[in-house]
Amino acid sequence: MRIELWPAGVVPFVIEGPDAGEVLRAIDHYRELGVFAFVGRTHQTDFLRFVTGRRNFSPVGKTGGGQQVRLAPGFTTGTVLHEIGHALGRVHEHCRADRDRYVTIRWENIHPGAYGEFETHPTGEAELGEYDYGSIMHYSKMHYTRNGNRTCEPTGSLRDGVLMGQRKRLSDLDAAAFARLYQAFGPAPRQPCG
Ligand SMILES: [Zn+2]
Repeated sequence: MRIELWPAGVVPFVIEGPDAGEVLRAIDHYRELGVFAFVGRTHQTDFLRFVTGRRNFSPVGKTGGGQQVRLAPGFTTGTVLHEIGHALGRVHEHCRADRDRYVTIRWENIHPGAYGEFETHPTGEAELGEYDYGSIMHYSKMHYTRNGNRTCEPTGSLRDGVLMGQRKRLSDLDAAAFARLYQAFGPAPRQPCG
């Protein structure tokens, strides 16, 4: 499956249901990367619609039309950072093609309905930077557990010392990953004022 990017990093959006303050805070973090221009949608046919949903969800990359970023009650700025990351074209960090060198997936502990969230995505090795346990796109050790045991853990000696699943900020390696993904387009166009 080919992931579509947003041409020139320009992302039109509308906020229809969720708390606009949280959504705009997350968008500001992305603007600071200097790669994306988020613009209020006027006439564009492809755009993000931030809506309220029962669970947090976004498709990966630009899928066309008014595509939904669903945010569940109780969502935080970090939730929005993660879901926008998908909409911009990133898969989960722990689903990278080379992830088995860095994490062990404990399938026996994963809720069966969530297996798909742990399958690897065929990313070209050349596109991959340093593995980032601190990525906004990485799950925590207990994400989708069905029995209280770990679902995803760092390999080898790193096993207990690594923090995974933070939802506070875009890491430096996240910034690098987005820049790499959109480098063909060059720097973002200047943002309109306001
Ligand atoms: Zn996700």
